[in-house]
Amino acid sequence: MLIHAWISAFLKGLNNKQRREHYFTRDFIKLKQIPSWKEMAKSARVKQPEESLFPKDNHLNEKISLFRGDITKLEVDAIVNAANSSLLGGGGVDGCIHRAAGPLLKEECRTLSGCETGKAKISCGYRLPAKFVIHTVGPIAQGQPSAAQATELSDCYKNSLKLTIENKLRTVAFPCISTGVFGYPNDAAAEVVLNTLRKWLEENKEKVDRLIICVFLEKDDEIYKEKLPRFFPVDASGVLPSRL
Ligand code: ADP
Repeated sequence: MLIHAWISAFLKGLNNKQRREHYFTRDFIKLKQIPSWKEMAKSARVKQPEESLFPKDNHLNEKISLFRGDITKLEVDAIVNAANSSLLGGGGVDGCIHRAAGPLLKEECRTLSGCETGKAKISCGYRLPAKFVIHTVGPIAQGQPSAAQATELSDCYKNSLKLTIENKLRTVAFPCISTGVFGYPNDAAAEVVLNTLRKWLEENKEKVDRLIICVFLEKDDEIYKEKLPRFFPVDASGVLPSRL
């Protein structure tokens, strides 16, 4: 048995407390420290537009979160990696995930035979607080993305969620796939992501506890705060009218 398979089996046999001894950091973030969108919208000064794209659904609002920070710190069932097609590591979030997980992640990734754009593959999380890493490859879109590239970006999220369910995982965090080195415009990407997650949650809400949109940059934080109320409308109370 290869060492990564042995360690992966060993980690799977541990309970949460035992797993924590193997994390690369003591500074990890528990799910209960991440407010749901429903909770966040109550405290944040969220502007609810008069016209939203979907009906208000508080149950769905409890299933989604916006979190700004380092995805490698999240103690969730799975984090998604914006990988490149070789799955052998790169810069950006991919580099952060590989550094944090340790060298066995690359060893396992070598056995996965790469990944096509829009598809996803799963591995152990090794020294990450996340139990699994779901590797997906976003489209490279320098400039205005085509409809085909928007579909590929949406497929990254859908196929990652397919693996989430197939592996009976209930909490998953996504970075802003393709919006770094791969050049997908941040605003357009957020529209694709929110539309995909909203529609997916409508069909599958009982199968997961929380989908976390993990933004790293202030720009993305602002974009998602502005767009979330259109895709996940919130209670009128505690919300500022859009036109003052
Ligand atoms: P891609 O090649 O798919 O564009 P990048 O890694 O270059 O992927 O960027 C994707 C997003 O991940 C960017 O928004 C970048 O700021 C963000 N990012 C980089 N490091 C981290 C991290 N440690 N945690 C969460 N997001 C990160």
